[in-house]
Amino acid sequence: MKSYPFSYSWRIQAAGTPGKLWPYLSDTNRLFKDMGQLPVQEAVISHNLPRHYAQLEYNHLRRADLWSEEPYQWEAPHYLHIEREYQRGPYEDLSIKIKLQPLRSSKGTGTTVIIQFDGHARGLMGSLRTKRHFSAHFKRRLKKILQKYDESITSRRFPEGNRPFWKSRSSGKWKALISELSSASNEPDLSRQIVDHLRYGDEQDLQVINPIELANMWSIPLHRVLETCYQAVLLNILNMEWRQICPSCRRTLKVSRKLVEISSSHYCKHCGDTQNFDLNNTTQVIFKCHPLVRKLSEDTYCVSGPQRRQHVIMQQYIQPGAKHFVNLMLPDGDFKIRTDTLDRDLNVKPDVDGLDNVTMTLERGEDNKECTPLHPHSDMIIKNRTESPLLISVEDVRWPDYGVSAAEITSQQLFRDCFPKELLRPGQKMACNDLSVLFTDLIDSAAMYTKGGDEEAISRVMNHFEVLRKIIREERGAVVKTIGDAIMAVFRQPDSAVRAYRKAQEYFSSAEKANEIKIKGGLHCGNCYAVTLNNRIDYFGNTVNFAARLVEKANSDELVISDETLEHKDLKKFLEQDEVYCEISGSDSKIKGFGDKLHPIKRLSLQKPKLKLVI
Ligand SMILES: [Zn+2]
Repeated sequence: MKSYPFSYSWRIQAAGTPGKLWPYLSDTNRLFKDMGQLPVQEAVISHNLPRHYAQLEYNHLRRADLWSEEPYQWEAPHYLHIEREYQRGPYEDLSIKIKLQPLRSSKGTGTTVIIQFDGHARGLMGSLRTKRHFSAHFKRRLKKILQKYDESITSRRFPEGNRPFWKSRSSGKWKALISELSSASNEPDLSRQIVDHLRYGDEQDLQVINPIELANMWSIPLHRVLETCYQAVLLNILNMEWRQICPSCRRTLKVSRKLVEISSSHYCKHCGDTQNFDLNNTTQVIFKCHPLVRKLSEDTYCVSGPQRRQHVIMQQYIQPGAKHFVNLMLPDGDFKIRTDTLDRDLNVKPDVDGLDNVTMTLERGEDNKECTPLHPHSDMIIKNRTESPLLISVEDVRWPDYGVSAAEITSQQLFRDCFPKELLRPGQKMACNDLSVLFTDLIDSAAMYTKGGDEEAISRVMNHFEVLRKIIREERGAVVKTIGDAIMAVFRQPDSAVRAYRKAQEYFSSAEKANEIKIKGGLHCGNCYAVTLNNRIDYFGNTVNFAARLVEKANSDELVISDETLEHKDLKKFLEQDEVYCEISGSDSKIKGFGDKLHPIKRLSLQKPKLKLVI
């Protein structure tokens, strides 16, 4: 059959900058749907598909197209390239290129978006269909799509879906949802924003609602978004789910409705290996529109676009012997350059004095663990000297910017209070790193019992638990358990733990002399294991044992803290504030159960000594 080459290209001006438009245009799942494409599904036909390729077909009976896709190639925020080879359908091959060129004119900034389709049509029929498809109507559609994305950027609202009947239908139901959520969460504006998002938003956006994206879009602190989402879950407006991500390629491997269903490991077909999960990075909370609020279709329009792996700022697929020119734009942060088959990660950091012209040669047997400073806008040449095609990517190594971890959620009292049944499977141990463990204990509780009698002493001890629980909750930590007169609490950050301890101390010492309560504390940060015990998530490991020993070392009103915890940058920043009084004395001490070694510890007094009148 004769093949007919075709080439269509459009230049459209948009108001948003390339950086602002990139998240929309690189979200090919959204873009293809907006372009009017049909939903796709993975075809299981060819068994000898090259690694990282996808074979796709339309999820539609009347369209028998079948194609394989090379891995997508992109350089954020200015270039995206998709290459398809068709086994069936009107095309033989199709290449889609999207370029974003910054536009600086007297009127301000913006972007010229160039969208280009090249390929070969199969036979005369294919050629006619191609012409019909890429008509003036298609250009109008592209313009409208960009207008919609621009509106979303300027109004800080998620783009609307293409189903306008949501606007008119049963507006009473939506109003009721807003008022229910507002009164439960005490966040009227945020409640309206969330419900409006569910009402007008694109189905694609409602399948996976990442609280970080809501917080960023609406410029609202993350904890407020999370707290309102918890209430929305309790009201059956949202569903809460746990997604588990491959620690190596960060593709979602498993989604569970309950924490009890999460796994400790899973096979990743992209990495060809079984991967272990922890609670920190690789298990994250996401939300989804509740089906009673709005029924979502399960349609997918693209399976391998950049938006599925937002931390990858560049990906290139390089044939053996070939070289690629890349115009790298590194935002702030820490990055690694990774190839899928050579075990050779290169750590890079943007630095204005760094290299601005680099040649990377990919060959076997090299290793470099050092960090290379690269100019944020460097030109890079990548050469593949191996015998097989290589997928190379530049990836942001940070995790917290892309998802809220289960470790963070489960160390919040509010979460534990709202969802007491969200527990790990009995017997399952999940690594939970960088946890701050605070123990507090009452001073002289025995004297309190002898002086006031059991009844009075018990109610004072109980009240003191209530006060601590309230303060710990305010500082977004959680009380794990009480042991006698002591409390074990966890926080994600040591500064929150110190803040809570200080607040509690202030509260207790402000009471009348007769009712004064004195406490002491021990704080240590480190890695633990989370398990379910006695119907709650509890933590075990050396970090917990060490923190428990530190409280034993403390004198009245003191918080004993390990040296390394005191070095934490957020804690240092907190203690350096003018209004925070802190006297630190150090000593080396033997810690029971931790051998004969002396451990450097610090004693923190966070209360100004009361002034004494000296005559
Ligand atoms: Zn993987």
